[in-house]
Amino acid sequence: MLYKLYNMSSAVVTFFLESRPTQSRHSIPNVRNICMSAPQTLSPAEAETALLELDQELNRLQRTIRLAIQGQLSKMVGRSFDNLKQNRELAESIHQLLDSHGLRVCCLECGHPAILRVSPRGNSSGVFVFDHTIAGKRTFHGGRKTVPLIRLVAKPPRKSRQTLAESSNG
Ligand SMILES: [Zn+2]
Repeated sequence: MLYKLYNMSSAVVTFFLESRPTQSRHSIPNVRNICMSAPQTLSPAEAETALLELDQELNRLQRTIRLAIQGQLSKMVGRSFDNLKQNRELAESIHQLLDSHGLRVCCLECGHPAILRVSPRGNSSGVFVFDHTIAGKRTFHGGRKTVPLIRLVAKPPRKSRQTLAESSNG
C-alpha cells in the first residue's frame, strides 16, 4: 500500500517535469552561458518578478498536487478494511504520503491540522482519529469506523509560537 501511494505521487511529479520539455531544453544552455561569462548585474525588479512568478507557479503546482491526492483519497472515504492492522497501515501510508508533500489532514471537528491515525477500540477493526496538539496538549478527535472526509492543509511549522514570532522578522 505504502509503495503504491508513493508511486502515485512520483507519477504526479514526473508529469510536471515532463509537461515543460521545451523550457528546460532552452534553459540549460542559458544557465551554462551565464556561469561562464562575466558577472552581470541583476536588477531588483527582475529578481522580484522572477521570484514572484516562481512563487505563483509553485502555488499552482501545489494546488494541483493537493487536488490529485484529495481526488484519490476521496475514493476511500466512508470505507475501511475489516481488520485493525490493515486500517493502521492505510492511515500510516496516507500520513507518509501527505507528510512528504508538507501536508496534513484538517480535523473535521475543530479544523486544526492533524495526523490521521487508527486507534483500537474494543475488539473492533479500529476507529479513524485526528491526532493533533491543541493548546499544547495532544488531542484526539473523530472516531469513525471508516476513512473520514479528507481535506488537506499545509503542515504547520514545527517551531513554538515564541520562536516563530522571533524569526518572522528576518
Ligand atoms: Zn480536532
